[in-house]
Amino acid sequence: MELLLANPRGFCAGVNRAIAIVHQALERYQPPVYVLHEIVHNTHVIEELRQRGAVFVEELEEIPRGAVTIFSAHGVSRAIEERAKELGLRTIDATCPLVSKVHRRMIRLHSLGYDVLVIGHKGHPEVEGTCGQAEGPVHVLSQPVEIPGLRVTDPAKVGYVTQTTLSVDDTAELLKALRVRFPLISEPERTDICYATTNRQGAVRQLADAVDLVLIVGSKNSSNSNRLREVAELRQTPAYLIDHAGEIDPQWLAGVNRVGISAGASAPEHLVVEVVAWLQQHGAGEVVEMAGEEEHINFLVPDLQA
Ligand code: SF4
Repeated sequence: MELLLANPRGFCAGVNRAIAIVHQALERYQPPVYVLHEIVHNTHVIEELRQRGAVFVEELEEIPRGAVTIFSAHGVSRAIEERAKELGLRTIDATCPLVSKVHRRMIRLHSLGYDVLVIGHKGHPEVEGTCGQAEGPVHVLSQPVEIPGLRVTDPAKVGYVTQTTLSVDDTAELLKALRVRFPLISEPERTDICYATTNRQGAVRQLADAVDLVLIVGSKNSSNSNRLREVAELRQTPAYLIDHAGEIDPQWLAGVNRVGISAGASAPEHLVVEVVAWLQQHGAGEVVEMAGEEEHINFLVPDLQA
């Protein structure tokens, strides 16, 4: 059995930055440091940070007054920012700069009098944060079937932004239908689906065509990891999303000659190494790294004040 590794895979610049911010805060301010929601959607990352002294909470009210509080990579609403001030928390924003860019475009559209369609998964923290930054009318849209029901202020003044981790293919379909309903719709110069999502989906597309089984390393609540599994399935290749090697079912390997492996943008590389080791203990041989898009994007980690 041969193993193929997708490229690129795993951590993106926004995840690296968010995790580095938590590490730096733990060193600078000493534990406990509070984080509103999971800093990124990966159970292993969360557990490691928890062991170092990070405390993950779902409500600001759970945090003691004056405590250091980090906002996750997915971004937060204005109401959360305001509430944190009222509660006297010392906040640090780990929102990915590419999510902040989406917020800025939405605010600009509102300043021009547009209704903004937020294309994304209802209830996902990034979508909630984006909608909560709005200064005008917003409408969350997940599927083309919802388009006929949209009621906007002026059909000639509609723009859209998207969640950064959507399926490139599904979003292209939805946008096609949206342009029919709103021919004058304002579009971003470049898609809001980020470089990391786009590159990882492209790599899995290529991978899925070359193997009999795809394993995506990532947590069940990770949007971009779920999309990677779907990309492989769309190519008619069986695919599973696994949090770690222990979740592999040996029965999946029956009759399989080549296994493809990738990892979501929030999944650490050591988990991929463990999956490879597990497969090698179960009969796999050679490991081939596929060629892929090179990534050179890094985001500066802010220097936290003492
Ligand atoms: Fe930023 Fe994209 Fe990574 Fe999300 S997946 S943290 S938007 S780089």
